[in-house]
Amino acid sequence: MPPRPSNLIAIYPGSFDPVTNGHLDLIARGSKLVDRLIVAVLRNRAKDPLFSVAERLELIREVARDYSNVEVAAFDGLLADFAAAHGATMILRGIRAISDYEMEWQMALMNRRLQPGIETVFLTASEEYSFISAKLVKEVASLGGSVTGVVPAIVEERLKQRFALTGARK
Ligand code: ADP
Repeated sequence: MPPRPSNLIAIYPGSFDPVTNGHLDLIARGSKLVDRLIVAVLRNRAKDPLFSVAERLELIREVARDYSNVEVAAFDGLLADFAAAHGATMILRGIRAISDYEMEWQMALMNRRLQPGIETVFLTASEEYSFISAKLVKEVASLGGSVTGVVPAIVEERLKQRFALTGARK
């Protein structure tokens, strides 16, 4: 069996539109397991994202700045290729509820087929964050509801600005 790599690199991919406290919890916990954690923002998945890729990168960089081994990057194309190009041997994902499982399972198996040297590792969401999704956050914020404690303060502020500008809050 090959030895554990001395520089264990993991990719944590997602759309992060925007980053939530659930994502941040996964970054905090995941960063302890590896030498380098690359948070990878997927371009073009959501057809109509609320925040641009540049804004999403900036917000993640800001909220994760205390984690010295965490980096942030954007990617498109195959995740397995991006991971291999960065020398990663782990893909980190979060599982909130059983409803996450089927899709995650399919993606993990496909990624293993594409890159057999890369393992997908799942962390269970912390109970206090397991109900949080970026989609729900946007919906609540667009209707003027409070997302305090659900997203970092800077994200809350950015959501308020965005919805004040677009006039979605009525
Ligand atoms: P979302 O589903 O909130 O739009 P992403 O698609 O950006 O988020 O998700 C990226 C990864 O983060 C996925 O593995 C997802 O399961 C995980 N994740 C998202 N929200 C949470 C949370 N609240 N707790 C733990 N993991 C989460």
